[in-house]
Amino acid sequence: MSKNTPHAIRGTQDIFGADAEAFAFVVETFERVRRLYRFRRVEMPVFEKTEVFARSIGETTDIVSKEMYSFEDRGGDSLTLRPEFTAGIARAFLTNGWQQYVPLKLATHGPLFRYERPQKGRYRQFHQLDAEIVGAAEPQADVELLAMADQLLRELGIEGVTLHLNTLGDADSREAWRAALVEHFRAVEGQLSEESQERLEKNPLRILDSKDRRDRPFVADAPKIDQFLSDEALAFFEAVTSGLDAAGVKWTRAESLVRGLDYYRHTAFEFIPDEGSEAAGKLGSQSTILGGGRYDGLMESLGGAPTPAVGWAAGIERLAMLVGEKEVAPVEAMLVVEDDRYLAGAIRLLREIRDEGFTAEMFASGSPKKRFSKAVKQNPQALLVVKPDGFWGATDEGALNPQIGKLLRSFNTSSP
Ligand code: ATP
Ligand code: MG
Repeated sequence: MSKNTPHAIRGTQDIFGADAEAFAFVVETFERVRRLYRFRRVEMPVFEKTEVFARSIGETTDIVSKEMYSFEDRGGDSLTLRPEFTAGIARAFLTNGWQQYVPLKLATHGPLFRYERPQKGRYRQFHQLDAEIVGAAEPQADVELLAMADQLLRELGIEGVTLHLNTLGDADSREAWRAALVEHFRAVEGQLSEESQERLEKNPLRILDSKDRRDRPFVADAPKIDQFLSDEALAFFEAVTSGLDAAGVKWTRAESLVRGLDYYRHTAFEFIPDEGSEAAGKLGSQSTILGGGRYDGLMESLGGAPTPAVGWAAGIERLAMLVGEKEVAPVEAMLVVEDDRYLAGAIRLLREIRDEGFTAEMFASGSPKKRFSKAVKQNPQALLVVKPDGFWGATDEGALNPQIGKLLRSFNTSSP
């Protein structure tokens, strides 16, 4: 690399090799599972008007106050690279009149951008899987969404991760709880971390989410939401938990779980590795791998009609760290051409093998004498070569897939 080669932007990744295979495995598994549950695929813009995020996520959240990549475009509009999917999906729901499809189950994945301090498992461009059910007020939607998340983790082979579940109640319960929390924390204000003192004014619920040691004792004895839940909110939560039990989804109650965004109501949840598990060891302190909740108030903050909805997002990088090594499967047929006179035949044979659905590749580069040994190093299931009589054959006929063998024989008889 010369001195004037530009380097990559801090917090971005060039994903290659085993990491890229693990990444692809996560995405492919998600695609398969979302089809099982009949979530419809949606493709979203990578940027939106800044207000889409500012209004829906909330001005006082970490994301909006310090993590957004915002810029003015040439037309003078303030735009922002998406820091999450939900706000853009809500905007799309309203601008496209998707009301006609409710209840609408949507799934998407792709890159997101947050100006954070890069560290293990935390990037400035990262990737998420995202699932949303829009226009569904019933607790069964929460159950469906969580059952899908749980199945995804099982199909990814991820173990030692538990669903941590809380309810934030309806707007009234949440407001009453908030007031009690403010009172509780105000009494010990001077002993809280600076960040939590700031949150006390702007976003007191977020103090519960503090990772600062100094806040822990006060968080532990803070008033719990349960005291403030209305009968309706309680019934809603009970319907969610009994639905999860019926679906066989294991969960644990997490009374301090609040999530960082303003728009959540009722159900809030995170899948977190169990303490001491292999997954926890791999992830370190960036432990939440999938999180979400119900956001019944979000559409109104964007000027739409009240629309109940629930969704989750999961970091693809963090999931990929947990699925282990995913090597590329060895090629089923590797063709070696040591004499370029046979090149055209090899190209035709390659096509025929691939048309039958087998993986095939050709080694025809570099010194002809070295091609064979290089091909062997790829550890192919079968090596196909031109024999002295000019016909194609396998170096080890016994290891050859019978269907490929049949194809070879008919190729040999038809080749001019
Ligand atoms: P955290 O508490 O780790 O900052 P968060 O609450 O900001 O997470 P969400 O906005 O809920 O995260 O995003 C859902 C998931 O996306 C997270 O659980 C995590 O797996 C992943 N994620 C979030 N931010 C990043 C990042 N900067 N780099 C990699 N993955 C991320
Ligand atoms: Mg964050």
